[in-house]
Amino acid sequence: MPPGRAGSLESLRRLNRLRVIRALRDEGQISRAEIARRTGLSRSTVSSLVADLQSDGLVVERPEPGLAHGSSGGRPPILLSFDASAGAAVGVDFGHSHLRVAVSDLASTILAERTRPLDTDHDAFEGLEMAAELVVETLADAGVAKELVIGAGMGLPGPVDQGDGTVHSSAILPGWIGMTVAEELQKRLEIPVMVDNDANLGALAEAAFGAGRDATDLVYLKVSSGIGAGLILNGRLYRGSAGLAGELGHVLVHPEGIVCRCGNRGCLETVAATGALVDLLRRSHGDDITIERILEAAREGDAGCVRVIHDAGRALGTVAATLLNVLNPEMLIVGGHLAAAGDLLLDGMRESIGRAALPETSRGAQVVAGVLGERAHVLGALALVVSEADRVLPTRLALAG
Ligand SMILES: [Zn+2]
Repeated sequence: MPPGRAGSLESLRRLNRLRVIRALRDEGQISRAEIARRTGLSRSTVSSLVADLQSDGLVVERPEPGLAHGSSGGRPPILLSFDASAGAAVGVDFGHSHLRVAVSDLASTILAERTRPLDTDHDAFEGLEMAAELVVETLADAGVAKELVIGAGMGLPGPVDQGDGTVHSSAILPGWIGMTVAEELQKRLEIPVMVDNDANLGALAEAAFGAGRDATDLVYLKVSSGIGAGLILNGRLYRGSAGLAGELGHVLVHPEGIVCRCGNRGCLETVAATGALVDLLRRSHGDDITIERILEAAREGDAGCVRVIHDAGRALGTVAATLLNVLNPEMLIVGGHLAAAGDLLLDGMRESIGRAALPETSRGAQVVAGVLGERAHVLGALALVVSEADRVLPTRLALAG
């Protein structure tokens, strides 16, 4: 079998495993037959996935109460329940200016959470030391022993090569380029670490717990100090050949525009990221204007603030329209800092999408704000760990040995 095919079977199995875990989480107690019905998976697939979960200690069997003495005749169905307390997961979200850590059980119920501000131009090693400290503190808050942690997921605001785990050199996070981040954090924590970019994690979180729960094809657009898209296609996160899929912030919108931090001119980020909005309003609203103030003033009806947010929405919509024409998703979910503007931003996007996308494509795609807010990325980091628990467990055993 060619390696690509084996890889896609492997990721399909992980997705199916997540579906089974979700059914168990939603129902509390459920039979194998019912899991097959709810997930659409075959009985043999369900049995094999359940057997794996049982051997990892994540699923326990119990006879259905009341039917144990066979009152209905025949063999009582065996109910399964997910032992969410059998393990814990750690999520780490590195933003441009914040660090957020959460500890959850395996049902993604948050047990403890901490945040800390971060210098935009922080040194990567300093950042990793701080993350490791914050993880230890958050585990203590949650009362969870490190031995119980099956893995840590980590989100970075930049593309991550899934092959060697390095941060790509597109000048998103200057201090981090070329660093093997997962390895470095794993060394400090002695917990297996998986790293992905924050837009991918936002997509995963909104698909698993948020606005996209019922969608199999969705685009998550993160609009903060950087802009990026996470793509869920056919129920799976699509990363591209080198983890660069969804780098929407660097799509050219104004050939003669200002220079972007990537070195090109007129990228979408230079007109629609939060920093661009702040720059636009400095002359009229004063040097100390911040994105928080802009959002607040726009809600109160300040014409200039409403205007720049609407215009950012229009620029985002024009670029998103191409994505809708190419991918035909069911939903476009907007997250990140600017999503807090709600319809002030989304109306501008809908206007451009209406103009630039095929009518059928734009009618078929709902444009909504994410529902997980600023926690989307850390929740996605936790989902990454739970969905990849099969890959993480052996690593953990190897580390323990
Ligand atoms: Zn750029």
